Amino acid sequence: MQLNPNDVLANKTPYAQKRYITYAIVTVIALVLPFIRINDNHFFLLSFDKKQLNLLFTSFDMQELYLMPFLLIIMFLSIFFLTTLGGRVWCGWACPQTVFRVLYRDLIQTKLLRIRKNLRDRQKKFDGNYVKKAIGVILWACLALIAASNFLWYFVPPEDFFTYLSNPSEHKLLVGILIGITAFIVFDVVYLAENFCVYVCPYARIQSVMFDNDTIQVIYDEQRGGKIYDGQTKLGRKPLTSESECIGCEACVHICPTHIDIRKGMQLECINCLECSDACSKVMGNLGKETLISWTSAKSLQTRKPVNYFRFRTIAYMVVIAVAIVALALMTTKKENMLLNINRTTELYKIEVDNGKFNVENAYTFLMQNTQKQEHIYYFDVNDTRIKITRPAAPIKIKAGGKKKVIVVLNTRDTLVNVNTKDTPLDIKINAYALDDKKNISVSRDTIFVFPKMVEIRKALSKD
Ligand code: SF4
Ligand code: SF4
Repeated sequence: MQLNPNDVLANKTPYAQKRYITYAIVTVIALVLPFIRINDNHFFLLSFDKKQLNLLFTSFDMQELYLMPFLLIIMFLSIFFLTTLGGRVWCGWACPQTVFRVLYRDLIQTKLLRIRKNLRDRQKKFDGNYVKKAIGVILWACLALIAASNFLWYFVPPEDFFTYLSNPSEHKLLVGILIGITAFIVFDVVYLAENFCVYVCPYARIQSVMFDNDTIQVIYDEQRGGKIYDGQTKLGRKPLTSESECIGCEACVHICPTHIDIRKGMQLECINCLECSDACSKVMGNLGKETLISWTSAKSLQTRKPVNYFRFRTIAYMVVIAVAIVALALMTTKKENMLLNINRTTELYKIEVDNGKFNVENAYTFLMQNTQKQEHIYYFDVNDTRIKITRPAAPIKIKAGGKKKVIVVLNTRDTLVNVNTKDTPLDIKINAYALDDKKNISVSRDTIFVFPKMVEIRKALSKD
């Protein structure tokens, strides 16, 4: 059906414009997020330096990395879900590699320095002006330094990052990593370019196994446009049959940043940027027709019905991701505000005799950790009132984020069990807490107190 060209063009916002807006939003979020802190915690921070994980503005210690599997499960399931639903939507709309290439090739080389002729033809190489090319690389290196710093802020928070950089001689490793990442980004964007997506990126290689007939992709409508390729063989610039709509202008080929012809079918090189669709929209729009290249599913194109987004696979992914998120949220709420590991020493017990009375002692090693941002003084008690604390005699002070190994000795002067033949391990519970904030900072741990067989006690008493 022939439409009014003005109507066709007016109703269409180019995908490129929408992508640029998405890039701007993603970039601002990535840059600003590391600077936002709530209760001194970041949205995401994996600090090897401080052995700490910040997630959703909550701080976790390395010993609490049991959360990591949940995070990884959610991350992988989200990738599977997104790929099944939207194909290579990540590649075209949010991947840093694509954003970097748009900045370098389209903004710096084409718009600013005019080394490339225009954005409609990405097949033409630069015009041989090496000075301009060098300027382009220098400009990109400055942006690459910001990108590398931005990446590192998720591992070394900005408040430490700038302090460390102000004293580079004492932080040579950080400076080296920063320079290394910057150099890689420059090399990648300037020399590897789209080859990175084709030959290096593992995600590009595994995506197609997650596709189904309802996955949206960039597809050339061969039914309307006509056959251009027979397998790998190109039949001609335009279709052989006169009723086919493709006029063979190859605007879609010239504009493609990965140098492919989408009329050949789905290819590994396609990064889903939809530039070809924009180009064809313009060409066909001038003829009063809809684009021959659309962002749709193979099934939708075949049946001419809307894309089926809610199907068994996508719903199943959504359910599993929701379950994993709820499990993560529950684990987060169970987070403990101090850490305590209790190990018994190798000696089972010790029997002391004093004025004809026995005293049974059990020794333990407590590894205590203050996971808070303030110093606290800790102590503990035992749930069995017959068991007393011999050591330590005084509460334990631990600085913010600090750890302390404490030798603890518990004792009893009571006959806890009257068994002659064997030692008896009794279950006890240790409640440790911060003296200044017992309500919020406390943990309980189960352990045992070994009471000796009575024959041992009698033997010790007889020696007195
Ligand atoms: S831009 Fe459209 S009309 Fe031109 S060659 Fe590509 S598919 Fe055919
Ligand atoms: S064929 Fe080329 S221009 Fe079209 S979406 Fe894929 S990468 Fe972009």
